[in-house]
Amino acid sequence: NNSLGDKKKRAYLANREAAKYYLEKLSESKIAFNYLINRNINVDVIKKFGIGYAPNEWDGLYKYLRAKDFTDEELEEFNLTTKTKKGNYIDRFRNRIMFPIIDTQKRVIGFGGRVLDDTLPKYLNTRDTIVFNKGENLFGLNIIASESDREAIILVEGYMDVISLYKSGINYSVASLGTSLTQSQSKILKRYGKEIYICYDGDSAGAKATSRAIDILINENISPKIIILPDNLDPDDYLSKFGKLNFELEMKKSLSYFDYKILKIKENYNLESSEGLTGFTSEVAQVLSRVKNPIERDVYTDKIAREYSVSKEAINSYIRQLYRRKS
Ligand code: ATP
Ligand code: MN
Ligand code: MN
Ligand code: MN
Repeated sequence: NNSLGDKKKRAYLANREAAKYYLEKLSESKIAFNYLINRNINVDVIKKFGIGYAPNEWDGLYKYLRAKDFTDEELEEFNLTTKTKKGNYIDRFRNRIMFPIIDTQKRVIGFGGRVLDDTLPKYLNTRDTIVFNKGENLFGLNIIASESDREAIILVEGYMDVISLYKSGINYSVASLGTSLTQSQSKILKRYGKEIYICYDGDSAGAKATSRAIDILINENISPKIIILPDNLDPDDYLSKFGKLNFELEMKKSLSYFDYKILKIKENYNLESSEGLTGFTSEVAQVLSRVKNPIERDVYTDKIAREYSVSKEAINSYIRQLYRRKS
């Protein structure tokens, strides 16, 4: 459809112009620039990621883009401005550090904006538009597509994590965009990386999100490895505290997704009691039943049976029960 194609072109153009505007505003704002410097983001990194600043004004971007002949309707549809109840147009992002989200073809498709203090919400993203679908894009994918050797991808939670990793020479990380990982995103990961690592924040929210992401990935026949960070740190915090070499050690120490799941399930049971062992084994069997590759499933079943002295036959028959219940 031609008019849809034309509209998309306008959306890419408007987003690119907006990114330029934010970049220019960053160079004019000491406060925003200092914020980035305090977070160890230097000028090279700013340029590499096209990081900018949406000034503390109501309609700076609106005026800038109107002067470039974009219409009110276009700017609202591309989610660069918002229409107020009174019918005025104001900028969607104000007083925020701006991270452009760029697709594999190097087009700016949307933004993530971070406040400079503790105001909530900490991050605001572009809503879905004709060129931006949160669940089908990843932050950092443009860099993976153009620079990495596609051996491995590290899936992290946030913009700052991708940027910090890149700064320390690890140019193969991506972040899902403020939502939990989707099936489409895991298809993309499969396309761009042979080995997928998950390295979410080392807090309880991160652990929960890891378990969910594992399930999404194994659905796509990916067997991810899990990097567990200590002391509630995220990759950005970890790198500034312990540096790249230690991070690479954590990567080497990463667990198979299966061992990670077992570790988490174990936390809920007392394996000394028969009830505990039964509950534990049953839950493990549920994990096993979701492993698509039968060889992989057999290897893991074997491992569990030997390690916890439960018969392999019992585990397999329980798995068959689960399958029957499903169908
Ligand atoms: P910083 O990014 O400044 O280091 P942080 O590590 O505390 O802060 P998190 O709360 O861990 O940030 O958020 C990680 C990622 O989750 C963000 O980069 C963003 O993509 C997403 N996110 C966080 N809060 C929100 C929100 N309110 N709305 C949408 N996405 C969010
Ligand atoms: Mn977090
Ligand atoms: Mn974090
Ligand atoms: Mn952080």
